[in-house]
Amino acid sequence: MSKSVAKKIQAIRGMNDLLPSESPRWQFFEDKIRQLMKRYGFAEIRTPIVEQTALFARSIGEVTDIVEKEMYTFEDRNGDSLTLRPEGTASCVRAAMENGLLYNQTQRLWYQGPMFRHERPQKGRYRQFHQVGIEAYGFEGPDIDAEVILLSARLWKELGLMEHVTLELNSLGSSEARAAYRDKLVAYFEEHREVLDEDAKRRLTSNPLRILDSKNPAMAEVLDGAPRLLDNLDAPSQAHFEQLKAMLDAAGIAYVINPRLVRGLDYYSRTVFEWTTTALGSQGTVCAGGRYDGLVEQLGGKPTPGVGFAMGIERLILLLETLDLVPNEAGSDVYLLAMDDTATIAAITLAEQLRSELPWLRLQLHCGGGSFKSRMKKADKSGAAFALLLGEDEMNEHTVTLKALRDDQAQQRVPQAMLAHTLSEQLSQTP
Ligand code: ATP
Ligand code: MG
Repeated sequence: MSKSVAKKIQAIRGMNDLLPSESPRWQFFEDKIRQLMKRYGFAEIRTPIVEQTALFARSIGEVTDIVEKEMYTFEDRNGDSLTLRPEGTASCVRAAMENGLLYNQTQRLWYQGPMFRHERPQKGRYRQFHQVGIEAYGFEGPDIDAEVILLSARLWKELGLMEHVTLELNSLGSSEARAAYRDKLVAYFEEHREVLDEDAKRRLTSNPLRILDSKNPAMAEVLDGAPRLLDNLDAPSQAHFEQLKAMLDAAGIAYVINPRLVRGLDYYSRTVFEWTTTALGSQGTVCAGGRYDGLVEQLGGKPTPGVGFAMGIERLILLLETLDLVPNEAGSDVYLLAMDDTATIAAITLAEQLRSELPWLRLQLHCGGGSFKSRMKKADKSGAAFALLLGEDEMNEHTVTLKALRDDQAQQRVPQAMLAHTLSEQLSQTP
């Protein structure tokens, strides 16, 4: 039998590994998010990555990009149609309803995790990507809309992004107002049919509002002349929008009104917003959200207002990297090495003792033997600020040699009993 070299299996196109060199940035971002959610009183919810296909078809809408062409849908072994979640809102509503979270109460929830869309992979656009989202249920007024926007604004401020993003704001009105507007819009576009592209012609019957979203320069003029949804709002939606703007003004949050902002998903009503940046090319939306008062009912629940947003983590991390705003955190504080194999047991014991005494300490223990020179090389590569060396002399004296790796402080022998104290001082630990 001839031996053939096994063909290497590769990851799926558009689905990325997160490598150890990149994970500190993600953890930095995720830590910020966790803190922020606590500060605003949002509680985390985790839902399965797979749901029944009908959930997304019914909530997102049959004539959206996502449902038309982006979903990962398959039959499981029972023949049920399942879909890898393309977004988080539908699952969140389903879970909240199913677990009675919407029964006579309000909810402020957040989630994060991978989402799946079969799109053409490019910078800032992947087939598995990650979102953080928030969802508030049961609040009708604009105060919660403001709160949702202020939470995102605080994140930009604290990440140093505020001057690099713009808040775009619009109102889609009530579904009745939108239906009336839709007729006006279709009539207008029918008059200008000759300038519509193929996509727009198709949407004319299926989802005409989406035509407003088009980036096709050939249609710019006809889009500019289109009747504006903002001029066709019902009175309560108009009042809601005015109040929201007043709240944002009072909080000092700048925004631009974008009357053509309609969002891709069907379930929005009233407030819609996007945070955009010009620093990422055409993948410029880092956070998108709004109000979807009809969604819970559409999914079979009691009418319950909802508002939220989703942000793309990859795009935000790209943005932070582009602007050089991610702190570069070293992997460890201390690299502890036995100078030779006879000191290994003592080194293990000392490492464990230090980890008990200093729970905050990031200590990497040398493993895998090697010459003294190669051990020191590994210490340096670890990024640690200090190496702790343990050899025969140190063992006899109950000391350890403390050697600074990042500056030329003289090395010193420290009694093992004093080591925790010395390290605390040297690393001037901040809680
Ligand atoms: P786009 O117009 O860029 O396709 P979208 O309207 O489809 O975005 P949403 O469904 O509103 O996006 O998702 C919210 C956020 O999730 C986006 O603003 C973006 O930051 C991120 N996002 C969406 N699709 C992808 C993707 N394929 N890869 C990476 N991030 C994505
Ligand atoms: Mg999209």
